[in-house]
Amino acid sequence: MKYISTRGHAERQSFCDILLGGLAPDGGLYLPESYPQVAGQLEEWRGLSYAELAFRILSLFITDIPAADLKAICDKTYTAQTYRWCRPGRQAADIVPLTSLEPDFHLLELSNGPTLAFKDMAMQLLGNLFEYVLDQRGETINILGATSGDTGSAAEYAMRGKHNVRVFMLSPEGRMSAFQRAQMYSLQDANIFNIAVRGMFDDAQDIVKAVSNDAEFKAKYKIGAVNSINWARVAAQIVYYFKGYFEATRSNAEKVAFSVPSGNFGNICAGHIARMMGLPIARLVLATNENDVLDEFFRNGVYRPRTTAETHITSSPSMDISKASNFERFVFDLVGRDAAMVRQLWREVDAGGSFSLAGGPFAARVADYGFVSGCSSHADRLATIRDVWERYGLMIDTHTADGVKVAREHRLAGEAMVVLETAQPVKFAETIREALGRDPVRPAELDGLENLPQRVELVDAKVDQIKGIIIREC
Ligand SMILES: *Cc1c(COP(=O)(O)O)cnc(C)c1O
Repeated sequence: MKYISTRGHAERQSFCDILLGGLAPDGGLYLPESYPQVAGQLEEWRGLSYAELAFRILSLFITDIPAADLKAICDKTYTAQTYRWCRPGRQAADIVPLTSLEPDFHLLELSNGPTLAFKDMAMQLLGNLFEYVLDQRGETINILGATSGDTGSAAEYAMRGKHNVRVFMLSPEGRMSAFQRAQMYSLQDANIFNIAVRGMFDDAQDIVKAVSNDAEFKAKYKIGAVNSINWARVAAQIVYYFKGYFEATRSNAEKVAFSVPSGNFGNICAGHIARMMGLPIARLVLATNENDVLDEFFRNGVYRPRTTAETHITSSPSMDISKASNFERFVFDLVGRDAAMVRQLWREVDAGGSFSLAGGPFAARVADYGFVSGCSSHADRLATIRDVWERYGLMIDTHTADGVKVAREHRLAGEAMVVLETAQPVKFAETIREALGRDPVRPAELDGLENLPQRVELVDAKVDQIKGIIIREC
């Protein structure tokens, strides 16, 4: 399998070559040059364990790691031990247990990994792939990132203790929930560096950009990233659409819809690819919060990224995006893989503008790809958390609530709907208390997490300070 850029750069790459990098040289995103067709394999795959299924699917995309090694990486990644933080009564060995709220209305629990958010599903694999490829090549990497919550902690828990990898993760001082801070800052691993920056998330993000744009520093200190455009993360996420489909159906003649709480379009992009591979997905329901850039696109064909000032700070903060960094992958398919067209559209976007695909074949194309959308507000979120708690005795987090709210608007009789549960409620305790008047449930093993000693360095939002820390530790 070779990979191509959405903007047409000529060189075809193999998986391991794009694993450690970010964007393609022309600024595009990597995609497989064709989608493997697997409709004929569904029967055989239905009964497989999660790790085995991951191996079968990833083998189609990763053809430059020997099969036995890839199998070992999958077996090591998807274990009941790693995904043990599930609700009482669920089987950790399922990795992504399915809970039925009603006949044909299900939650697929993707947040049972170490940081209690779905990002672990892909990031844990990435950690093992990085370690494998760096070992093979005798290289090291220093991952530099900025986080406002879920991504940074998922990256740290995936990379902790791995050889040849260090993580320097910037977070805005005092902006994350106490639980999120404790999750990250309590890590004592020698290769994990938590850096709290006096400022906002954007200040931290700007520092990461400045360091990455310093080509000399970047090369000398082998600076890398694990952001959401990384193809391996998307690839890993394809697997749970298959697993969720098998759990929600009895035969491969049935179709299901998936509802996906969306921000950067990474999660639902994996659903789109699963559908392109022949998984019988009737529809993909895209749910946004108040930051409705993507809902706007699927309603009227206009993609208008927001400015930072226009971006709402919401109670589903992991979906607070101004532009959707993976969206270019979908648009590439939507315009018939016309790289020149994508280049032209993103010339507008990269210059701070917008584009419209309204009119022409747009509506029909979107329908062909199975996409529908909706958005959810803080009031919707509270009402949905309350309703799900009262009706089914189940506590859901704020992002999952957005998914449930929009899923309900798009349910069709006789079609199973699977809502992806993207985080556990304990990560967003304040909103849970507002909705339910009680503290969120949390896995017993995490009692007292906030009281553990924390390891974090507080610095001013200055590029040289961050560079200084990297120089000191390398
Ligand atoms: C990252 C995240 C999302 C959004 O996923 P995208 O891949 O960015 O669309 C939704 N919910 C939670 C809890 C997240 O951490």
